[in-house]
Amino acid sequence: MTATDSNSIHARIAALATEAEQCTRCGLVKTRNKFVFGEGNPVTPMVFVGEGPGETEDQTGRPFVGRAGLLLDECMREVKITRKHVYVCNVVRCRACVMDGGRLKNRPPTTDEAGACEPWLRRTLEIIKPLVIVCLGGPSASTLIHSDFKITRERGHFYETVYGPIAMATWHPSYVIRQEGAAFAQVRAQLVADIDAARRKVIELRKAAG
Ligand code: SF4
Repeated sequence: MTATDSNSIHARIAALATEAEQCTRCGLVKTRNKFVFGEGNPVTPMVFVGEGPGETEDQTGRPFVGRAGLLLDECMREVKITRKHVYVCNVVRCRACVMDGGRLKNRPPTTDEAGACEPWLRRTLEIIKPLVIVCLGGPSASTLIHSDFKITRERGHFYETVYGPIAMATWHPSYVIRQEGAAFAQVRAQLVADIDAARRKVIELRKAAG
């Protein structure tokens, strides 16, 4: 890829983020604090897609920066990947939350909210054109792989998808940090192994393409 191509991808992603920030397609715009488009390197063969911004992401405007994000960074580092190598975003770009006991708590985005936000995800992936998409958690896989995706049964496998040549799903890091003891060690190891499998799939696809 030439420097001009690379600059064009950066510019197109920046323009899309500016356009998306004005979006009012769903009610999440009313409760969000900061819009969270995505970040990392858009000139990449690998994109991670989570479910949606949480509280810390909503405060900072950056994806995966809370405890779950720190764990994701840690697991990526174990297979020699950093945020400089990949792009990270979510199915919805504004935090889904509900008032509970006087404070806002995260909730899963509804199907309608995910559907309203899908064009931003699709257009992001059309610009980046990753070789492998890593869905973090079941809801992301339900959007990008198939609608009744079962993360417990189907994680770690590769699927063809209209969003890119290949997608796979692994545990959402926020699920991993909710585990304790041996269960934590087990699902954390699976998250690392799945990220490594995605990394190796990129190498395989590049070799196949010559
Ligand atoms: S979540 Fe997506 S569709 Fe809803 S307002 Fe935010 S950017 Fe628009």
